[in-house]
Amino acid sequence: LLETRALNKHFGGLHVTNAVDLALQPGEIHCLIGPNGAGKSTLFRLVLGEHMPSSGQILFNGEDITRLKSFERIDRGMSVKFQVPGVFKGLSARQNLEIALQRRRSRAALGREIDERLEFLGLKDAANTLAGALSHGQKQWLEIGMAIALEPKLLLLDEPTAGMSPEETFATGELVLGLNARGMTVLAVEHDMTFVRQVAHKVTVLHLGQVFAQGSIDQIVADERVAAIYLGQAHA
Ligand code: ATP
Ligand code: MG
Repeated sequence: LLETRALNKHFGGLHVTNAVDLALQPGEIHCLIGPNGAGKSTLFRLVLGEHMPSSGQILFNGEDITRLKSFERIDRGMSVKFQVPGVFKGLSARQNLEIALQRRRSRAALGREIDERLEFLGLKDAANTLAGALSHGQKQWLEIGMAIALEPKLLLLDEPTAGMSPEETFATGELVLGLNARGMTVLAVEHDMTFVRQVAHKVTVLHLGQVFAQGSIDQIVADERVAAIYLGQAHA
């Protein structure tokens, strides 16, 4: 579904993305991990079209999207949940979803659809709570609900469990697995290895802008070279 080919990004003299080849099969949950400064967020922004690569290609659904703008990528079925909240704080969870969904539904169908979504997101009891008053986890789930309103093919998640309790992290994993069961492909930048173990079909480790290792979570945690880069980070 998504493929990067020899993707490079320089910021001045800094080579932040170095010949990255990444391939996501349809239906895959792919987690992107790596120490601070590895270039995860940058790769994410390249995929989204927020940065233009210095060289290389990005393909989505077989189409070369390297030169397309963000909104054109969204039109083709990409969506993103950023860490920065984008919900309307003064509106309830229900009203926020209503705004995200109403573009393509009749009013009668809308009510039912929103009830289903609130239930799916674990927000049924918080439907009428103002978004600004939701817990941190609930806000994140509402964010995901907004991001998937138009049923994207590919959902990009930027550290979806940042700042969450273990219980909230687990619930987020279940939510992502639920989306995947509905056919969504997911690319998540994530630090929480419990979450990665819960959801990932495949893991890519970035280090110094390069693909350092790739495989199942079991292969990654058994890889002493991967452990070494994290330890190196700890001593830095
Ligand atoms: P973290 O885990 O801390 O979020 P990351 O893996 O997401 O790290 P990036 O944010 O992609 O890392 O940054 C990779 C490197 O690129 C860092 O050295 C960073 O300082 C540099 N960098 C990122 N964005 C820019 C920019 N707009 N201009 C210059 N340098 C940048
Ligand atoms: Mg980052």
